[in-house]
Amino acid sequence: MKVPLLDLKAQFSTIKNEILSAIEDVLDSQLCIGGPKVEELEKAVVAVSDCKYAVGVSSGTDAILNVLMSLDIGQDDEVITTPFTFFATAGCIARTGAKPVFVDIEPQTYNIDVSKIEDAITDKTKAIMPVHLFGQMADMDAIMGIAKKCNLEVIEDAAQSITSEYKGRKAGSIGTAGCFSFFPSKNLGGIGDGGMIVTNDEDFYNRLMVMRNHGSNPKYYHGYVGGNFRLDPIQAAALLVKLPHLDSWSQARRDNAAYYDEKFADTEVITPYLSPDCVSIYNQYCIRVPNRDDLLRYLKDNNVGCEIYYPVPMHLQKCFEYLGYKEGDMPEAEKAAKEVLAIPIYPELTREMQEFVVNSLLDFKSR
Ligand SMILES: *Cc1c(COP(=O)(O)O)cnc(C)c1O
Repeated sequence: MKVPLLDLKAQFSTIKNEILSAIEDVLDSQLCIGGPKVEELEKAVVAVSDCKYAVGVSSGTDAILNVLMSLDIGQDDEVITTPFTFFATAGCIARTGAKPVFVDIEPQTYNIDVSKIEDAITDKTKAIMPVHLFGQMADMDAIMGIAKKCNLEVIEDAAQSITSEYKGRKAGSIGTAGCFSFFPSKNLGGIGDGGMIVTNDEDFYNRLMVMRNHGSNPKYYHGYVGGNFRLDPIQAAALLVKLPHLDSWSQARRDNAAYYDEKFADTEVITPYLSPDCVSIYNQYCIRVPNRDDLLRYLKDNNVGCEIYYPVPMHLQKCFEYLGYKEGDMPEAEKAAKEVLAIPIYPELTREMQEFVVNSLLDFKSR
């Protein structure tokens, strides 16, 4: 048997004809920029994320960048975030000219350690950007409390967590804005790049819409320097086909996670911790083992797909050397980077495939 980390073909085969006909609609209309599909998707994402407004954008990265630019964050500003994330979180902060300030993670959830945020706040701090990692939300009550007290914006990097819940509230609906990614490996993945910003603030929504289109309003009159952050209508068309399946796909991931949780319960494999406050969408199922690199090699040799999310924490990336961090500054993120391993969790996994993954892992353990 062979079990990949993710099998996009398995999902596509179930909706192929609908996607092809949705793409044909766009082509027949020749509305190739913006248009009704993008607006329809924005309305649909508003509905599933309990937010008032949504802005379709070109990627999760551009969602974050647009939010930062629309908050006028730049030179001389600082934004607090986690070092244990995909590069885009920190990369966008740096691209605005602002300084990413890293706060170590909480080792159970891998999300930002809220007890360490206040120590990192200076008079230059403008925002906190928590990342809802692997499908589970960060401790938003604590983050919003600190933000309110210190007058900071909160940007939710919810790229891995669309429709995920914290105390009954949806990812992206709590902070100033939430950022989603439709990168194909996300729970709601497009057929290329795409993203969405959600917010409850009407003025901020208007600014995001202007910034998405080069900061122009009306056309050819530029009040701001924005970008081309528009969502492709062909992506919107494909995503509209997929969105109605999102809940059942995420439920299938939760069922797969429960199966692994049970099988690994009495072993040395540390399974993901689920906070009682949260409903996770399990974008990744990351186990933790001390001899991770040996396990990775063993699993790959035995046809089990797996990957390290993430091998190098942001504060140790070469491009951020200028920030002056060194090894040992973020001990929990550094330890996680050495021990985590994502194993297959995608919705179309069969029980037989999961059994194969579990047995391969336990075989390695008993060698
Ligand atoms: C995927 C991801 C992004 C970037 O999304 P793209 O659509 O790939 O640009 C940002 N942050 C996190 C945490 C992500 O997982």
